Amino acid sequence: MNIQKNIPLKDYTTFKIGGPAEYFADAKSIEDVQEAFAWAKENNQPVRVLGGGSNMLVSDAGLKGLVIKLSLDKLEFNEDKVIVGPGVVLSYLLNQSLSKDLTGLEFTAGIPGTVGGATRGNAGTYGVAMDSVVQKIKYLDENQSLQEITSKDAEFAYRHSIFKTKDWIILEVELKLQKGDVKAAQELVKERLQYRQDTQPNLPSAGCIFKNVHFKDVDLKDLKVKNIEIDKFDKFKKIPAAYIIEKAGLKGHIIGGAQVSDVHANYIVNQGEATAEQVIMLISFIKQQVRDKYGVQLQEEVQLLV
Ligand SMILES: Cc1cc2nc3c(=O)[nH]c(=O)nc-3n(C[C@H](O)[C@H](O)[C@H](O)COP(=O)(O)OP(=O)(O)OC[C@H]3O[C@@H](n4cnc5c(N)ncnc54)[C@H](O)[C@@H]3O)c2cc1C
Repeated sequence: MNIQKNIPLKDYTTFKIGGPAEYFADAKSIEDVQEAFAWAKENNQPVRVLGGGSNMLVSDAGLKGLVIKLSLDKLEFNEDKVIVGPGVVLSYLLNQSLSKDLTGLEFTAGIPGTVGGATRGNAGTYGVAMDSVVQKIKYLDENQSLQEITSKDAEFAYRHSIFKTKDWIILEVELKLQKGDVKAAQELVKERLQYRQDTQPNLPSAGCIFKNVHFKDVDLKDLKVKNIEIDKFDKFKKIPAAYIIEKAGLKGHIIGGAQVSDVHANYIVNQGEATAEQVIMLISFIKQQVRDKYGVQLQEEVQLLV
């Protein structure tokens, strides 16, 4: 295992922000991951893992210890069952599945990042997420021993899984897809990619900064009085964070090189030289403004790595 030193993490995140990893390893197999952990233990270093870097903000000072980039790219099809490594990029998995007449992953269209990151965060769109296809997950537990968990026990919820509360590393995921109408699926994917192109910013970002807001977590009556059009969001029973941030008048707001996108208010974009500190200040400002104006407590979807 080649352990490198001082590797700039901004090159590994879609935000293009972040200082260096003190130590860095690119793991291509389960054995590589185990070897990297053994090195970290021997050298008394903490470990973080990285998938596609599309849901994280890394601090300007970088990260102490070892960062393992999970590049495990196993991809095996067996009828409607797919065994996939955490490093496989979602768009590649989607295309490969469709080319084998398998549907069920259309919801991933336009989500950057890898299978590992997507499973951990139960990534999704239009109310459909990874939990709709995941059957089993192989992982390394906190004692670096190999374990397996079924989807049922993975505590999947909106942008959540058990992996968000434990130091476990996803090493392999088993999916169940369906033989379906591939033409219709391809059309849907094309439509959704076009929609994203029309409605999302082109500048570097980490996607949506905040989770959408569940009806059950807010005072709906009070929000109606404050001109929040609750009825518009009845289908998913969630208020889009973008909607409420825009209502608060924050679209386009800038701190340093970080801006609340003027295309989609739940994106913070890096206008070129943004620092993690500026992004964090902007996140705090948005939360404070939305709380003061609407009594709504926004929660970050993006992972802050400091
Ligand atoms: C333009 C844009 C659009 C986006 N659109 C969407 C969307 O529509 N829906 C949506 O849900 N998300 C969206 N995202 C967010 C992001 O793409 C997803 O959350 C994605 O699943 C993150 O995967 P990743 O591999 O990049 O994870 P990373 O950013 O690399 O990691 C995220 C977290 O997961 C951990 N992690 C990564 N791999 C593993 C593993 N194998 N085991 C354990 N922990 C791991 C990391 O340590 C980190 O804490 C968008 C992002 C961007 C930039």
